[in-house]
Amino acid sequence: MEVCRQINEVREFVKEQKREGQEVGFVPTMGYLHQGHLSLMKEARKDNDIVVVSIFVNPTQFEPDEDYEEYPRDLERDLKLAAEVGVDLVFAPEVEEVYSTQSLTTVQVADLSDRLCGESRPNHFTGVCTIVSKLFNIVGPDRAYFGQKDAQQVLIIKRLVKDLNFEIEIVTVPIAREKDGLAISSRNKYLNESEREAALVLYNSLQLAKKLIIAGEKNAEIIKTKIVERIKGEPLAELDYVEIVDQNTLASLSEVKNKVLIALAVYIGQTRLIDNIMLEVETEC
Ligand code: AMP
Repeated sequence: MEVCRQINEVREFVKEQKREGQEVGFVPTMGYLHQGHLSLMKEARKDNDIVVVSIFVNPTQFEPDEDYEEYPRDLERDLKLAAEVGVDLVFAPEVEEVYSTQSLTTVQVADLSDRLCGESRPNHFTGVCTIVSKLFNIVGPDRAYFGQKDAQQVLIIKRLVKDLNFEIEIVTVPIAREKDGLAISSRNKYLNESEREAALVLYNSLQLAKKLIIAGEKNAEIIKTKIVERIKGEPLAELDYVEIVDQNTLASLSEVKNKVLIALAVYIGQTRLIDNIMLEVETEC
């Protein structure tokens, strides 16, 4: 497995592969790899001749008061895990390599970036879209892999690719969960034992919502209220948001119908966790 620190090295490597007619899959990550990241890499391994992974804790997608400095990092361990799933190249640049000059350009997907997570993280998706655009231009992949765990991010990236005419297929990979249902996240590392237990409230409240919908409940406010009650019942949890929205537009729904996304963000102690479920609800004629 190649490990590159410089943009030029990545470009050279990929150019050479493309000259030989190889197809390239790309998995962007912030490292501290876990089963969620590895499931993206395995999927990329299946579809492509060459798999490129980036490991870069992108400062521009953190708000000033967030955990950029403390965000867990362990490149040595990450390289081992990436090699084990057959990754061909890891791009692990320093911040100065990526943002080398005082850049004046950002990439913003309007509207979709302001909703859900965008309300409490107003700069987050501009940071994500800018780094993803830069990485797409550096790597030049045929396909790129993103996790359903960040449902809003996937939707925004798909829109970015469409609007800016990137010739890249975006592949979405299901949420990898712990045995008890907790969505796997690098930030789970911050949780102590009691917080880890409390964190289950995200998954459990989404399951409760699913049960209500299967039982015929269509009123989004009623479902949201049940979720809020469940989260309030957990003393270590504090709700950031819960939204029931259309999967394609992220517009709020009053009635649960068609392709629905239920997404939430909850603070467990100091740690902000997200989770979601997608449901297809048949409408009665
Ligand atoms: P991150 O390193 O957190 O920026 O995540 C890199 C990629 O891995 C993103 O596309 C995430 O959506 C994806 N990812 C993170 N956690 C999971 C998970 N539990 N299941 C599936 N994909 C995930």
